[in-house]
Amino acid sequence: MNKNIVAKKQKSHKKKLIFFDADGTLWYPKRTKYNGRPWWIYFDDKTKDNPLVHLTLTPRVKTTLKKLKELGVQTVLIAQMPYPKYKANKLLTEKTKYFGIFKYFDQIRASHAGIRASEPDPKDIAILEVIKDRKIPKSKALLVGDSYKFDYLAAKNCGIDCLLIDSFKHTKEYSEYKRVKKRIKNIGELLDYV
Ligand SMILES: [Mg+2]
Repeated sequence: MNKNIVAKKQKSHKKKLIFFDADGTLWYPKRTKYNGRPWWIYFDDKTKDNPLVHLTLTPRVKTTLKKLKELGVQTVLIAQMPYPKYKANKLLTEKTKYFGIFKYFDQIRASHAGIRASEPDPKDIAILEVIKDRKIPKSKALLVGDSYKFDYLAAKNCGIDCLLIDSFKHTKEYSEYKRVKKRIKNIGELLDYV
């Protein structure tokens, strides 16, 4: 195939909008890292009152987000949280500021689901809303997450690609992970897809 055609074809696969999940994707517990469910930190008696100091950014987050900005790729933090949207957005904003990564996001969009949610707003619906608002074709969007259920299935439901971080090791969910083909070891590897 002609070189220009190959280059054009490759370019057409490049992503223009990347969704990032939060817990387990951008940050994780210092103690367990990728090796367990990341949200234990909000329930454990020793960590729940001050979870931020027990969290740290996952490898290569800052350099990757900075690179995406340079490439002109839009970035949206999208996390499903058990709080009303305004409170969840505020918490996510505070966390990204604490970690010094707020400036790298074009948008922060909390979603909200579960039996206690008075107005369910699951992640797949939130993704579709952002894609529509930003006028990005689904083929140009990608979700990076760590949960088979909340990230991989949400992306699949709305028809966008997903990269799953190899996480949740030593939990029974890990068997589901191993079925997913597009897995990465850390966020930095997503640069191969943009
Ligand atoms: Mg997560």
